[in-house]
Amino acid sequence: PGASYGVLPRPCRALVLLNPQSGAGRALEDFQAVVQPMLADADITPTVFVTERPHHAQEKVQDEDLSQWDVLVVMSGDGLLHEVLNGLMERPDWEQALQTPLCILPGGSGNALAASINYYAGNDHVAKKKLLTNCTFILCKGLHAPMDLVSLSTASGKRFFSFLGFGWGFIADVDIDSEKYRRLGNARFTLGTLQCLVRLRIYQGRLSYLPAAPPADTLLVPLGQPVPPHWVVVPEEEFVCVYAIYQSHLGTNLLMAPAARLHDGCIHLFYVRAGISRVALLKIFLAMGRGTHLELNCPHLHCVPVRAFRLEPRGSAGVMTVDGEALACEPVQGQIHGRMCRVVTG
Ligand code: ADP
Ligand code: MG
Repeated sequence: PGASYGVLPRPCRALVLLNPQSGAGRALEDFQAVVQPMLADADITPTVFVTERPHHAQEKVQDEDLSQWDVLVVMSGDGLLHEVLNGLMERPDWEQALQTPLCILPGGSGNALAASINYYAGNDHVAKKKLLTNCTFILCKGLHAPMDLVSLSTASGKRFFSFLGFGWGFIADVDIDSEKYRRLGNARFTLGTLQCLVRLRIYQGRLSYLPAAPPADTLLVPLGQPVPPHWVVVPEEEFVCVYAIYQSHLGTNLLMAPAARLHDGCIHLFYVRAGISRVALLKIFLAMGRGTHLELNCPHLHCVPVRAFRLEPRGSAGVMTVDGEALACEPVQGQIHGRMCRVVTG
């Protein structure tokens, strides 16, 4: 795997896709004050493309001559990187396009990949400007490594690529309901969590998955017994929340999957069964700040490493999210694709 690591050339030509509306609306200011001086010292030349509307970045990378750039930098939240990734996937030369290293600099209110990369690099947990400084320093060092992606397809025929997570129920609700508090930055999620706890709901549906590491002998069962079904179907069909995450962090202050790494070939599937009390759910979210929620041994919280999953909601109430972006609620399935793109990492 060592050979799969690369390093950015010097001088380095960086296309910076920047969403001026992300987070508290200070991405451009922060870029000029914090990022630009550091890049200059590291012989990285940024060309800034300021997005004017949703899908602008996606369209930009769809027919960009990528040979001009050594790295595509996204200065925004996870949402803009989701656009860039899907723009690259729409290109006829997507396979080659995905070899262009991507870099995330936290400028948004949801900066889960930036927080994950800061964590993988072994840095202390930080937020805001300190997280931006750490991520810029990682870019200045210029190491890049493969990252797993997940493909998601829906009953209505949509297909997405995702680098962070898929959610339904509680976490998806918090994510989308709290968008109106984007100006609060990361605090939007704390406020959103408390609000959603007050009107806690149950979502009905069927969840199935292909376990990541079945023991070797599952190929054999005693003669005369039915063969084991390849997939696991979760027996309960009432959930408070389903979240499939493939990075460590759900948000700057939420260490949801401490064991996750950029290319571990794994989807970390979390689900919370109905019947959990509000207090127990709150405890889970408080513990997630330090990544100790699994140690609570809450009987309603499940976490399984999987390679693929399918979620069939009963009815279309509620929202789903991909990398924090809203999706209409419908049957959806996804699978991991190992080491599909490259990302700048510590
Ligand atoms: P945040 O973490 O603050 O939500 P994101 O990077 O997730 O930041 O961006 C949120 C949304 O803003 C994305 O869906 C993106 O398409 C959209 N967007 C991008 N550029 C603009 C713009 N200039 N004005 C408004 N919305 C934009
Ligand atoms: Mg967002």
